[in-house]
Formats: sequence, structure tokens, C-alpha cells
Amino acid sequence: MSGTAAGPAARLVIATANPGKLTELARILADDHANVALVSLAEFPGAPDVVETGVTFAENALLKAHAIADFSGLPTVADDSGLCVDALSGMPGVLSARWSGRHGDDRANLRLVLAQVTDVPDERRGARFVCAAALVSPGGEEQVTEGVVTGRLIREPRGQHGFGYDPIFVPDGFDVTTAEMDPADKDKISHRGRALRALAPVIRRSLG
Ligand code: IMP
Repeated sequence: MSGTAAGPAARLVIATANPGKLTELARILADDHANVALVSLAEFPGAPDVVETGVTFAENALLKAHAIADFSGLPTVADDSGLCVDALSGMPGVLSARWSGRHGDDRANLRLVLAQVTDVPDERRGARFVCAAALVSPGGEEQVTEGVVTGRLIREPRGQHGFGYDPIFVPDGFDVTTAEMDPADKDKISHRGRALRALAPVIRRSLG
């Protein structure tokens, strides 16, 4: 997205090193006709690597967005997400990326959650993916939206798409895991898609 008849596009930093998230937000903002130019974190060498110390997804998203807005001097969007399992009292939650002890070891994290719910019967295997998306201005003004997709955990991984816990998560109303869905179809119902689509009009109103 660049400028329109309304004037030059406002710059908005996306506080993620994940190019997939940048593309997804670009598509959602374009659908919402926001006159915004997305700037990747890669354009800010030396940007702080924010430690996610919050106890909620919203806290972590705000921590990241504030740190990068301070550093870049530009409005910034950040998100935080994870899997909340009913039978584990909502865990792994904000610890989803490091549940097995090593940050980002998707396979080990998935295996550990599956092992922990081995004895949980089918009717109590409810779970949800949650995502908080935060917009923070360089002046510190903050807004947060949240998206949720509810579903259940199956017993053996299925599917090759997605990442993280996708191969064991079947959303309500579906028979397939989110790893068996076409990525664009997952975006339509996903926690991240929902949180970002809720943030898009907030971004448009704040930035143009
Ligand atoms: P982050 O928000 O990118 O830091 O993601 C946190 C962790 O939550 C990931 O490492 C995954 O383990 C899990 N997670 C978040 N969103 C998804 C998803 O859409 N599918 C599968 N796992 C997810």
C-alpha cells in the first residue's frame, strides 16, 4: 500500500520478524481501505528483542508494541497468541511458544501438550487459540483487540500446513485440523485473523 488521493500513506511498523504476519496484516488492511504503508521490523536494526513477561496475551502484545514504538518513533502493531487448553486450566496460554522449555520448539511443545491430555476423554478436550493485537502510537496511546477460535484437541497430529499446535486443533464446526486447512481458509476463522480484522478499523481511524 502506498499513497492515495487522500495523501501519502502513514507508516506503521509491524513488530514481528515473521513475514507471514506482515503479509496477513497487509491483506486485511487493504481490504479495510486503510491508507497505510507497513514497515517491517527488519528496517530497524538494533530494535529491542522484547522478553514476553506479561501474564496475558494483551500485556505481551502491549509490551512489544510500546518497546518498538519507542525505538522507531512510529505507530506500531504487535500481537501475541497461544493455545489455551480447558483440561490444563487454560495453559499453555502465554507460555505456548516455550511450553516444553525451549522457545519455538513446535514439535516438542505439541508432543508435551498431547501427553498431558492423554487421559482426558473426548468430551473434555476443548481448547481455544487466542490472539491479542495492540496498536501503540509513539506518544504511548494504546489500543488492543482480541480474537478467539474455539475447538478441541485430537489425539494424533494431522496436516502439513500452519505451525505450532495446528496439527492437533480442530476448530468448532470443522472435521479437519487447522494444519489440514488451506492457509487462507484458516485466516478467515483464526484468532489472529479475527484480532487483526478488529484492529484494522482502529488503525484506519488512527492513521488514515
Ligand atoms: P506468537 O504469538 O507468534 O509468539 O505465538 C506463540 C505460540 O503460540 C506459537 O509458538 C505457537 O506455539 C502457538 N500458536 C499461536 N498461534 C498459533 C496458530 O495459529 N497455530 C498453532 N499454534 C499457534
